[in-house]
Amino acid sequence: MLKKIEHLGIAVQSIDESLKIFESLLGSKCYKIESVESESVKTAFLMIGDSKIELLEATNPDSAIGKFLQKKGQGIHHIAFDVEDIVTEIERLKKEGFELIHVSPKEGADNKIIAFLHPKSTEGVLIELCQEKI
Ligand code: ZN
Repeated sequence: MLKKIEHLGIAVQSIDESLKIFESLLGSKCYKIESVESESVKTAFLMIGDSKIELLEATNPDSAIGKFLQKKGQGIHHIAFDVEDIVTEIERLKKEGFELIHVSPKEGADNKIIAFLHPKSTEGVLIELCQEKI
């Protein structure tokens, strides 16, 4: 079951620069900066109510975020849904005909295990499933 929007992922050129803008916009401070080596990405998280904003900066121009920035520039990159049981959810979505980028969950930032759906099966929107690690 998809429970709620956990966060919105926004691709940025520079987390240092973008944090100033988002901290000022939201009136709250970033609570975590974390790099995910396997994805060559640096992330920064801000709370907004029950949800979060995740800023994503490429640490390598050939990474997924690096390529996204080259092609589309800065902007909304993905929507992440909080799920209760990611393995069950992946199975359900596969049966429903969705194409998954990750058929088994992997380590994500902010204490999560995650899987991405391919945007070509979700109307051009990159979707992330995430489950809190216990
Ligand atoms: Zn995310």
